[in-house]
Amino acid sequence: MTSQKKTPKALHTNSLLAHGGGGYDKATGAVVPPIPMATTFVRDEAYELVSEGHLYSRDHNDVFRKVEGLIATLEDGAESRLFASGMAAIAAIVRTVKPGGTILLQAGIYWGTTVFFRKTCERSNIALVEVDATDLQVLADQIATTKPDLIFIEVPSNPFLKVVDIAKVSEISKSFGSVVCVDATAVTPLIMKPLQLGADLVMHSATKALNGHSDVLGGVITCTDPTSPAWEFIRAERHGAGAVMGSFEAWLLLRGLRTLGLRVERMNANSQAFAEHFDGHPKMEAVLYPGLESAEGHELAKAQMSGGYGSLMSLILKGSKDDALKVAGALNLFQRATSLGGVESLIEHRETIEGPESGIPVTLLRLSIGIEHLDDLIGDMEQALEII
Ligand SMILES: *Cc1c(COP(=O)(O)O)cnc(C)c1O
Repeated sequence: MTSQKKTPKALHTNSLLAHGGGGYDKATGAVVPPIPMATTFVRDEAYELVSEGHLYSRDHNDVFRKVEGLIATLEDGAESRLFASGMAAIAAIVRTVKPGGTILLQAGIYWGTTVFFRKTCERSNIALVEVDATDLQVLADQIATTKPDLIFIEVPSNPFLKVVDIAKVSEISKSFGSVVCVDATAVTPLIMKPLQLGADLVMHSATKALNGHSDVLGGVITCTDPTSPAWEFIRAERHGAGAVMGSFEAWLLLRGLRTLGLRVERMNANSQAFAEHFDGHPKMEAVLYPGLESAEGHELAKAQMSGGYGSLMSLILKGSKDDALKVAGALNLFQRATSLGGVESLIEHRETIEGPESGIPVTLLRLSIGIEHLDDLIGDMEQALEII
């Protein structure tokens, strides 16, 4: 009997993820890849590499390649590169701009990113223009007058959950030759694919939902055109500046990715229901979540995202800073910790962490909603709100 192998149909994302990108360890048949701990690889008597693609593990690392291939597929991108953290990835992106150049940065995004851009641009003689990228007219005018080398936006933004029109920004920037990069950490590629919308680069702090278990630091950048000067620089920078992820971390990230589909589904559902429950609550000034019909960027979010709106939201309470801190202190299930995208729900009083110069409202509590039972999450917040 002859068996003919059919060409496999493209798998659904969840199937691809469950199998960690597919394949098994060819040497042993193991369904999970080994953790490659070797830093260097031998050459034979003729000075040829014993195994093609294995030279020195700063770049030549099977587990990196597997994770990068999987993430590039998730993003509908051409190539990905892993970095030691989200900030290491952002640093490589900033360095694509030469001294004398210009960067346009979305205002009111993750404070760590804002501070890093400000300090680096000041020291490197790069003009930094910070704008409210949700106002397309202002943005278009700024792009036309400053002709930036790089436009860096965060969608949705952290902690204000603002939604920028990625397709429009990409379209406007084309005639000025600006590289558009989207930090899509808050929603993962399962919800939003910026490269499909016209962006040149997408980055994630893999520390967050991609890994999902609050136990790995990582970053990843994916491109749409691997021959673009920006990508060639980033690839060379990862090799040369060496901000690589460790093999064990890359292996853990791959393990986390196996359940990304399930986690995102539950976190989306929990977040939507949680936001709807507390929207209009008597002790709430506002609930910032793009999934709420009343949210400023809801229609845009609906057009750009699919399957849900992510697990990040902010509550702005009525009352004082002290009230907000009291509520945070009265929670039992939500843990008081920074970061987001993990299976456990977290809460953070952002202004305490970032300081008054960040402009973050003193009664803003940022939540990262996990995979717990929804009733427990709502119940925990309800009982905490009772004390103010
Ligand atoms: C956490 C975060 C970063 C930084 O990533 P690290 O992995 O902590 O270095 C960048 N952007 C956003 C939106 C983040 O939430």
